[in-house]
Amino acid sequence: PATSMEELVSLCKRRGFIFQGSEIYGGLQGFYDYGPLGVELKNNIKAAWWRTNVYERDDMEGLDASIIMHRQVLRHSGHEATFSDPMVDNKKNNKRYRLDHLVKDQKADVIAKVAEAMGQSAENFPAVVAALNANPAQASEALRAAGVRDPFSGEVGEWTEPKPFNMMFKTTIGPVADDESYGYLRPETAQGIFTNFKNVVDSTSRRLPFGIAQIGKAFRNEITPRNFIFRVRELEQMEIEFFCTPGTDEDWHEKWLEARLSWWEAQGVPRSKIEILDVPKEDLAHYSKRTYDLMYDYPTLGHEEIEGIANRSDYDLGSHTKNQSELGLVARVEENLDSIAKLTIPHPETNKPVVPFVIEPSAGVDRAMLAVLSEAFTKETLENGNERIVLKLKPHLAPIKVAVIPLARNKAELVDLARSIKNDLQKLGLGRILLEDSGNIGKAYRRHDEVGTPYCVTVDFDTVGKGEDASLTDTVTIRDRDTLAQERVKISDLSSYLQAKLR
Ligand code: ATP
Repeated sequence: PATSMEELVSLCKRRGFIFQGSEIYGGLQGFYDYGPLGVELKNNIKAAWWRTNVYERDDMEGLDASIIMHRQVLRHSGHEATFSDPMVDNKKNNKRYRLDHLVKDQKADVIAKVAEAMGQSAENFPAVVAALNANPAQASEALRAAGVRDPFSGEVGEWTEPKPFNMMFKTTIGPVADDESYGYLRPETAQGIFTNFKNVVDSTSRRLPFGIAQIGKAFRNEITPRNFIFRVRELEQMEIEFFCTPGTDEDWHEKWLEARLSWWEAQGVPRSKIEILDVPKEDLAHYSKRTYDLMYDYPTLGHEEIEGIANRSDYDLGSHTKNQSELGLVARVEENLDSIAKLTIPHPETNKPVVPFVIEPSAGVDRAMLAVLSEAFTKETLENGNERIVLKLKPHLAPIKVAVIPLARNKAELVDLARSIKNDLQKLGLGRILLEDSGNIGKAYRRHDEVGTPYCVTVDFDTVGKGEDASLTDTVTIRDRDTLAQERVKISDLSSYLQAKLR
C-alpha cells in the first residue's frame, strides 16, 4: 500500500487519474476533475457497487434522481436547520476553520489540553469533537486556554465562539431571482430516494423489506476542503436506503455492516484496514438513531470515514409525509403541511399502513477511489535491482484491461495486426483495451504497471513470421502485471485466455 498521500497525488497527476478543477485559472479549492484513467476507475468502482447491491440481490431497485431539489425537500429533511458544521474565526487574520479540523491539526500537547478542558480523554478524539460541537461557549474557552494555533500563520489565534455554518449550495431557479425562486443542490443523494419512495413502491409493487440504490453527485460547501479528493465540495455518493419493518431495523443494521465490509474486501480494501466506529450519541446526525462509521486507514491521514452506515429510523419518510399524527411515528419530526403524499407501505403482518424504518449504507466514490488506489499502490525492487511502481488493482477495477503493443511502431505490419487484435478484444466487453503504439516497449511496460493494466499483449516479428523461430508465427507474448511472467499464446486462443483471467 501507499505510505504517503503525496506519492498517490503525484501518481494521479502524472498518469492522468485526477487533476485540480479549473487548474488553468489557478484552480478552484475543493473541486477535482477525473482524467482519462480516473474516469475508468471511477466507473468501474460504481459498476462493482451496482452489481453487488442491485443485480446480485433480489430486494433492491435502482434510481437516478435530479441533483437540484425543491427547497421544501431540504427544509423538511432538516438540512436547512441542521446541516451545518461549527466553525471558528481567527480574529487576528480573519481565517475561518472547521472546529474539529482546527483542533485535530494541533500538536499532541495542545490537543490534550483541549480534551482536558472539555472533560474528555485525548485518546477518544470523536468524544472530544462531540463535546466541542455540543458546547460552543466551553469550546471557545478551551481553545483559548490551550493556546490553539492558527494552522495558516502558525501563531496562537484569537478565536471567536464557534458558530454553525450551513453547508448547502443554494441556487436560483428560473429567470427571476426572488425570495421564492431558489432550490438547493442536494447535500446527499438520499433525499431523492425518500421523495421517490411512493413512486418506486407503486411502480414495482415492492413489499417490505426492500431497498433503493442510487449513485450520484452531492454538494457540500465544506469550510475547509482538503486532503486531495478526501474532502471536496462536489462529491459523488453510492447510497442505499433499505426500508424495513420497525423492530427489524437493528438486525438489518448489523447485516448491512457485514455486507458492506465484505464488498470493500472484494475491492481490495481489507477489513484489517477498516475500524468500525460506533458514533457517540452526541455526535449523531440529526436523523440518526445509531451510526457505524467505517474508518479506513488512509496514508498520511490515518483512520478517516470512508462510509457511514446509519439507522435513520422513520425520521425521513416521517418528515416528508402528510398526516404525520395518524402514523405513530417513532422519530421526533417537525410538522409538515406542505407534502401532498402519504409515505406509508402495508405492514407485512398486519397489512396496516406503516412508515418503515431505514438503514442507510452511504459510501463516497471519491474516498473509495483514494482507498482503492492506496491499497493497490506497490513499490517493488526487482531481481535486477531496479525499482518499479505497480498498481495491483483487482482486474475488474483496472482502468485499462489489456494493452496491445506492437514491438516496433514504425512497422505497419506489426501495428496493423496489433490494431486488429485490439479491435477483436474490445468486442468481448471486458472494458477498455488500448492500442499502445507510443514509446518503446520498456516505457510501455512501466507505464502500464503504474496504471494497473493487468495484461500487456505484444506483437513482435515472430508473430508475423519474420523472426528467428517459425513455430512462433501467429502467437503473441502476454505479460502478467503482478508476476511479470511472460507467456506465448496463439492469437486464436487470446480471447478465451483473457476472458478467463479478467472475468
Ligand atoms: P465527514 O465527517 O468526513 O465530514 P460525514 O459524516 O459528513 O463525513 P456522511 O454525511 O456520512 O459524511 O456522508 C456519507 C459519505 O459521503 C461519507 O462516508 C464519505 O465517503 C462521503 N463524503 C461526505 N462528505 C464528503 C466530502 N466532503 N468529500 C468527499 N466525500 C464525502
